[in-house]
Amino acid sequence: MDKLVSNQNVNLVKHPLYFLLALLAVGKIVKRIFEEQLKRCQTDYFDFYMVHNINKNTIDNYRNFDMYEQIMDFKKQGMVKYVGFSFHGTPDMLKEVAPEHPWDFAQLQVNYLDWDVVKAHEQYDIVQAQGIPVTVMEPLRGGGLVNLSDKAMEKLKEKYPSTTPAEFGLRWAASRKNVVTVLSGMSSLEQVKQNIETFINYKDMTSEEEQTADEIAKIIQSQGEINCTACKYCMEVCPNKINIPAAFSLYNQYKVTKNKMLFGVYYDTLADSEKPEACIKCGLCSKNCPQGLDIPNLLTKIADEKKKIAG
Ligand code: SF4
Ligand code: SF4
Repeated sequence: MDKLVSNQNVNLVKHPLYFLLALLAVGKIVKRIFEEQLKRCQTDYFDFYMVHNINKNTIDNYRNFDMYEQIMDFKKQGMVKYVGFSFHGTPDMLKEVAPEHPWDFAQLQVNYLDWDVVKAHEQYDIVQAQGIPVTVMEPLRGGGLVNLSDKAMEKLKEKYPSTTPAEFGLRWAASRKNVVTVLSGMSSLEQVKQNIETFINYKDMTSEEEQTADEIAKIIQSQGEINCTACKYCMEVCPNKINIPAAFSLYNQYKVTKNKMLFGVYYDTLADSEKPEACIKCGLCSKNCPQGLDIPNLLTKIADEKKKIAG
């Protein structure tokens, strides 16, 4: 964002805009990057500033180079107002990170598709228990909740004919009590206008709308290349507790959106013990699957795909 602003030579009218900027766990050159970001954004402070993308690959850097303490120094000098972090790790890792500092906010992936299937609610609950407000990223799942399948769209229109999928998804994310901000990637002026409209006329979701969101999530889940309904019967018998429906959901979404980056990021929110690679091919899950899926082979296919992307 800072580079974009700088390149466009924009004459920024600061308020009521808020600056949210992030810093990767880059170690010793934090101050240099921070100063460059201020210069590019033509400002002398950032409203919200965060350690970006804490995950299994970056967590050591974030700790070893005292990223939090360095950003706190900027805050003490009046150059940052609120200090947070964005997170792409497992719930167990978040249980360590959330209480590590008195964070002002945490940025998490929250949307109605991932809430149950990939246990986004666990992460939300962890930061809520620490009293940390949430800013939401991926409220529309990288566009996956905007371009709904015909059947999912039918369900939405049957109940709420004048609601767009984007409005529905954004309101769902904003209706979580501990959410203070919903961030959505927008690629056209039209989308910007529509999203502003959604929040100008904002209303929390009703319980009936919540129910519809659950139903749409189930439809999406059952319509991908892998016809899994997320009933979780397979997990009841899996000796390794592989998160089978989550792996299938990520794969299905990936096949629709072709978004390799998002697939990789979400995949790594699963603990190693629940990833497809941990499957020992005992076959118990398939015997319990009402859809008759060949689960072990599908898991191998997904693990291979992930390896291909990473390699
Ligand atoms: S085949 Fe794999 S996923 Fe299925 S029950 Fe056995 S270990 Fe679990
Ligand atoms: S039992 Fe079959 S349909 Fe149900 S969650 Fe497992 S893989 Fe999906």
